[in-house]
Amino acid sequence: MQFHPPTDIHVIERDWLSSNQIVLLGDEGNAVIDTGYWSHSSQTVSLMQHALKNKPLDFIFNTHLHSDHCGGNRALQTNFPNCKTHIPPGLSDLVKDWRYDQFNYQSTGQFCPEFKFDSLLFPGQSIQLNNRTWQIHAAPGHDPDSIVFFEPDLQILISADALWENGFGVVFPELDQISAFNEVKQTLDLLSTLKPRYVIPGHGKPFANFSQALDRAYTRLKQFVTDPQQHALYTAKVLIKFKLLELRHISVLAFNAWLYRNQLLLQIHTCFFPTLDYSDWFKDILNSLASNNALSIENGFIKNL
Ligand SMILES: [Zn+2]
Repeated sequence: MQFHPPTDIHVIERDWLSSNQIVLLGDEGNAVIDTGYWSHSSQTVSLMQHALKNKPLDFIFNTHLHSDHCGGNRALQTNFPNCKTHIPPGLSDLVKDWRYDQFNYQSTGQFCPEFKFDSLLFPGQSIQLNNRTWQIHAAPGHDPDSIVFFEPDLQILISADALWENGFGVVFPELDQISAFNEVKQTLDLLSTLKPRYVIPGHGKPFANFSQALDRAYTRLKQFVTDPQQHALYTAKVLIKFKLLELRHISVLAFNAWLYRNQLLLQIHTCFFPTLDYSDWFKDILNSLASNNALSIENGFIKNL
């Protein structure tokens, strides 16, 4: 079943480098949920200007503070200086003092420009947007501090990276040896009680087949719980592909240097694949991505495909 959101909910579908933007227009003010990756900032600003049709942007809401969901905050704050930014409470102290090394931006080899916030979005609260009431729910697992938004009348779920049509985001705490697969399950259980008719995910197109998506997510989770190495390998591929989406092409030498500096990849290797030589391990990953047409390696250059 095709999802046709109401005309006052505008979904700007992006890609895997930038999260989707969900633009909610209404009497309470005009809002965007999530702002994409920093390298797409100027495109994000243009897309927002187009979606707003000369109306002001009053609010930025972030579902969580990963670089692909809040990397455009700074550019939007600069271009819409009167807009107020609302974030989940978990990392607000880090944002307040901009303690950059405490986020995961450095360890993942990603980047996020400094931004400010005005208010917090507490799970259990509701907010009024586009003349509707949106519930805020905690959705830990992929990120301990992530939230999702749910509108009970139309049964629309804005699921961020807690649920995609085909899976969910990397379960980052697990890579730091912090148990979080159980939180993923609890979040999926919560979403199943909401029974959304339509889901607007953080990446990929909106969808209506919630129960099939939920089944796929549970199956994937079961695979990861049974074999955490599979999750670790999946994460390594995601980190590498994400960087190539950003860089587009890079010399093998420069990319190898990045791989040797990447704290999270080094950590995944040490914890999950300690018997393999690091360079053999990432060469295998690059070859596997190349055989899946996610990248090409030619004449000393790696190219994103
Ligand atoms: Zn995320």
